[in-house]
Amino acid sequence: MIVIMKRGATGAQLTNVTARIEQSGYRVHLSEGEERTIIGVIGNGRPLDRDPIERMDGVERTVPILRPFKLASREFHPQDTVVKVNGVSIGGKQLVVMAGPCAVENCEQIMEAARAVKEAGGRVLRGGAYKPRTSPYSFQGLGEEGLRLLAQARDETGLPVVTEVIEPQLVPLVTTYADILQVGARNMQNYALLHAVGEAQRPVLLKRGMMSTIEELLMAAEYILSHGNERIILCERGIRTFEPYTRNTLDISAVPLLKQLSHLPVIVDPSHGTGKWELVEPVSRAAVAAGADGLIIEVHPRPEEALSDGGQSLKPARFAALMEGLRPVVEAVGRTL
Ligand code: PEP
Ligand code: MN
Repeated sequence: MIVIMKRGATGAQLTNVTARIEQSGYRVHLSEGEERTIIGVIGNGRPLDRDPIERMDGVERTVPILRPFKLASREFHPQDTVVKVNGVSIGGKQLVVMAGPCAVENCEQIMEAARAVKEAGGRVLRGGAYKPRTSPYSFQGLGEEGLRLLAQARDETGLPVVTEVIEPQLVPLVTTYADILQVGARNMQNYALLHAVGEAQRPVLLKRGMMSTIEELLMAAEYILSHGNERIILCERGIRTFEPYTRNTLDISAVPLLKQLSHLPVIVDPSHGTGKWELVEPVSRAAVAAGADGLIIEVHPRPEEALSDGGQSLKPARFAALMEGLRPVVEAVGRTL
């Protein structure tokens, strides 16, 4: 449940209420809004008796949160969460486009991609150094060398970098290089990894599992939140259906639905969502129209030579055209690019 304090409740009243909740064996999670404080009561399944809390000084009312996700829910945190990273705000008025290659392949490739992303108005550079590949014979990523190259590209362009971390043991290393930690679709329910990124001092880009429901995605976010990390960006990247013409089926309704159920920012990955470069631009426009806070797009200087996901990667010129094509949609929904 949540406890909504009265407007103007004193610090002493807040302390009394939180002490009372903690004495009953629950954890508290404070959300201090501009007008009032909301206390999230995190239990272990047993409901806390609301009446005695409601009678305490400074308390306006209590509200049970019936959904299984609590800290991730809109009830608990009515205002939108804005995730800030190196001067970029994700979840605010500006649409944030993240772009770059599927995988970091070499210095020249990532530098060319980074310059093209920057030049076209991208705000965050993506690139995988650890790749979760279906085949053990496919390119697995450059590992730490890839992280170093990403950091070099950030130093040159000023773009913060997002890169995937595929196991808990790698979180400290990836954290030393990356600005945003990506949890990939295949790892959305890797609870040890969610725990580790929950304790990391970095924002997390959490991708929806390819066979996961919206509620499972929000429960994965809840794991990260419950370990103390509130800087989470949700990502719709398509789910498996019976349709073979596209790599996945992008669930556009997930965007407004997630925004309704949760306060966390929501971005869309039209590259993995469709698997086809020709579909990336129209689906990006649809995502922005549906209320996405950002996009993550694969861009490669020479997609035909890419070591992974070349068929869904845009050449720099097409990415620049996509950015221009987004402009009228961005303006129509009252945002900036
Ligand atoms: C990726 O972003 O390169 C990636 C592997 O995505 P996903 O986890 O969504 O498949
Ligand atoms: Mn990819």
